[in-house]
Amino acid sequence: MFNREIESMPAEKMKELQLGRLKWSIRHAYDNVPLYKKKFDAAGFHPDQFKSFDDMKRIPFLTKQDMRDNYPFGLFAVPLSKVVRVHASSGTTGNATVVGLTKNDVNTFAEIVARSLASYGVSENDIVQNAYGYGLFTGGLGLHYGSEKLGALTIPMSGGNTPRQLMLMRDFGTTVLCSTPSYALNIADYIEHNMPGFDMKSLKLKIGVFGAEPWTEEMRKEIERRLKIDAYDIYGLSEVMGPGVSAECSEKHGLHVFEDFFYVEIIDPDTGEILPEGEKGEIVYTSLTKEAFPGIRYRSRDITMLYHDNCKCGRTLVKMDKVSGRSDDMLIIRGVNVFPSQIESVLMGFEGVEPHYQIVVDRKGSMDDIEVMVEINEKIFSDEIKIMSNLSKNIADRFRSALGINAKITLAEPHSIPRSEGKAVRVIDKRKI
Ligand SMILES: [Zn+2]
Repeated sequence: MFNREIESMPAEKMKELQLGRLKWSIRHAYDNVPLYKKKFDAAGFHPDQFKSFDDMKRIPFLTKQDMRDNYPFGLFAVPLSKVVRVHASSGTTGNATVVGLTKNDVNTFAEIVARSLASYGVSENDIVQNAYGYGLFTGGLGLHYGSEKLGALTIPMSGGNTPRQLMLMRDFGTTVLCSTPSYALNIADYIEHNMPGFDMKSLKLKIGVFGAEPWTEEMRKEIERRLKIDAYDIYGLSEVMGPGVSAECSEKHGLHVFEDFFYVEIIDPDTGEILPEGEKGEIVYTSLTKEAFPGIRYRSRDITMLYHDNCKCGRTLVKMDKVSGRSDDMLIIRGVNVFPSQIESVLMGFEGVEPHYQIVVDRKGSMDDIEVMVEINEKIFSDEIKIMSNLSKNIADRFRSALGINAKITLAEPHSIPRSEGKAVRVIDKRKI
């Protein structure tokens, strides 16, 4: 463990630490950010009234829309002279979300990433190739400073340019790759199609650190098999900090949340009510130490659940499940709730199906139509028509039984679905609702 004292702290002691920090953070937000003052006042809540965790429910939520409305620096709680770095979301819908960090915040960010890397077994002896995009996105710089803090040799490669990625892996003896999971599969694709006979074992790569998009267990197995590595999930969101808010450990079962920096709750996304441990809902974050950009009860829209399971790794930190989808990009198809990750899970259960797919939802008259386009491998593609039509029928049957939806399955030829070097575009919703 990178920080044994914190990561294996008895739960009661952690609660105490959190409560003290919550009091500070709630007051810090109220005193220094007009929006929080306005919201808290409107809800009849004052930081003086905050005594126990039970008072959390009285505090209003912060939403992504609040962040957009206060673009660019409206939610900063310190003067700009104290802010040393900004990050921003891509802003595909409306204003970008801008977050700021003070020197202490930058240290916190590096700390959580260093802890995450250590929990996958990365050490100062490793050579870390960071294929996250450098820039306003938190992934690149986040992983970079965390890896340096851990003491690993860090290669600031950034995303894309697969041939060069592979050249550096070979020449520099890279042992750890950080990227989006879909980009890791791009690399595997590239090797298989351009470097026949290439032996993955000739590289020193052993660990993959993947995040920035939801991915399934099936995708993990696929990456591990094709790149001959152990693949781990790193989770985070720029509004809260960036990658490293939570991380898997050697058990590859749930992600430990770094609770000394983030207080987490699960709520019912419809009612806002707090749900008990073990129940699935939307995860809500409250920052405990952030100076520049405090986030009090930020609604992430990520769907997961929290639990304690006496993890074998020795960490006492609460765990969250791999995020199974988002409460806002959840698809509702003919009244059925479906997450893209569930669709992926079904697809990956079939031999010959590649983890490249696109979901197109449309409305014909009053009926929703869902078409799933999925790539098949060369072998299936060159087989008889009968085998292909059987496969698409079997997939459609599985969708009906597992998800309760009737989907049109289109098998696409190898390499026909556009690849991404960042976040993959999985869903095209053509409905005008
Ligand atoms: Zn663990």
